[in-house]
Amino acid sequence: MFMRKGDHMSKKQISKEKSIRRTRFLTELVICVVLLGTGVLFIKNAFDNVRTVKAPEEEQTTAPTEPTEMTTGAPDPDKIIFETSNVKTKEIFTGDLILVNNQHRYFGGGEDLVSILEKNDETGRTSFTAVDYDYKILSAVYEPMARMIDDFYEYSSLDDLMIYGSFRTTEFQQQLYEQDLQNNGTDSSTRVAKPGYSEHETGYAFDFSRYEKGTGAPVDYDGTGEYEWFAENCAKYGFVIRYTEEKESITEIQDEPWHFRYVGIPHAYYMMKNNLCLEEYIDVVRNHPYSGDHLKYTDDSGQEYEVYFVEASGGAEDNNSVPVPAGVKYEISGNNVDGFIVTVYVDVKNNS
Ligand SMILES: [Zn+2]
Repeated sequence: MFMRKGDHMSKKQISKEKSIRRTRFLTELVICVVLLGTGVLFIKNAFDNVRTVKAPEEEQTTAPTEPTEMTTGAPDPDKIIFETSNVKTKEIFTGDLILVNNQHRYFGGGEDLVSILEKNDETGRTSFTAVDYDYKILSAVYEPMARMIDDFYEYSSLDDLMIYGSFRTTEFQQQLYEQDLQNNGTDSSTRVAKPGYSEHETGYAFDFSRYEKGTGAPVDYDGTGEYEWFAENCAKYGFVIRYTEEKESITEIQDEPWHFRYVGIPHAYYMMKNNLCLEEYIDVVRNHPYSGDHLKYTDDSGQEYEVYFVEASGGAEDNNSVPVPAGVKYEISGNNVDGFIVTVYVDVKNNS
């Protein structure tokens, strides 16, 4: 149907004609809008595709991305800013987390040692003893060890613990090792570490014995009964029971419930919670490099930690750029294998 101007139409017809025109106009408008919208979307998609393809090129031309780069908007006050600390390659052989076992020799020397009994005298401690005044341990390890035994005494009223093994020179380790081979008629040992490869040479480890009151004769310590307290609580003081039956195939040392190793509170906590021996933990940390996801966890006291690995390179005296947090407490330890482990105490200000 079509109409021309001048055709005679009634008011009703005119009104109907207007209505049809309006409807047609609206229909056309809707079609236009839809077409326009589709066009815009098509162009936008095409543009986005071009941008996606170009992105890597753009990245390459910009300056290397700083790990501290801020996202859009206000800077996140909780975000840790990293700076660089120069650490010599040979430092991988020192620190709380050095792995010393049959594969990884201890290269130390110049340890800061204290006589356990002299320190006990100085501090008026009677909760435990040591074989004699020659029994020494790292100065930094004495206090957490003594506090742990004090707290055990508080808990149990037992004061029959004796430090039966502590720092050993390589010469002394050699004597023990040869004696063990002779006693057992073997040419290797899972009881005594090879000279140069014992944790006792680091000063980070000690052995418990019990002793008979009066005679002072040593009594076997097996970590059972009241003494199970140590397995449950030693991590709070930074210690792990280093050699367990379960991990013997990894550590190559048989079950030694009396042998404690200091690794520091954050690491002892993580190892205990996840049932890891030191060998396993060193591998876990290596899988959290600085450039990747850091190992993040919170201990029972609510302290948050961020731990990451930085591989070492170059000769002993070469410097390595180790990223460390600015203004936040941290520790660097070598792993005695291939690099450094940085431990960040999140939200704890650095006092140094
Ligand atoms: Zn031991």
